[in-house]
Amino acid sequence: MKLRTKYPQHVMEIEQLMGQLKMMKTGYMRLQRPITKVGKCCQCGTCYFFCPEACISDRGSYFAADLDYCKGCGICARVCPGNAIVMLRE
Ligand code: SF4
Ligand code: SF4
Repeated sequence: MKLRTKYPQHVMEIEQLMGQLKMMKTGYMRLQRPITKVGKCCQCGTCYFFCPEACISDRGSYFAADLDYCKGCGICARVCPGNAIVMLRE
């Protein structure tokens, strides 16, 4: 993961947060879901750093949310510099 090399402290903190939040599946609260337009994702990691649920991960060639935990706040879509995430109403 490129982000781990570039921002080791941030990645470590997010992984700790992920571990804590994994105990509670918060996806049921969601009214809309983030969809990553795979071809538009430049893998900058901005969504990964801003997601308050720490539920976005690197899927190899793009980043996407784990819907078991995503609350649908839409922050990832707002901060994505390439408009690679759209929110779809459920
Ligand atoms: S919608 Fe909110 S909770 Fe869901 S992945 Fe995006 S930032 Fe995280
Ligand atoms: S912020 Fe957008 S471009 Fe950057 S990793 Fe997330 S989805 Fe991809």
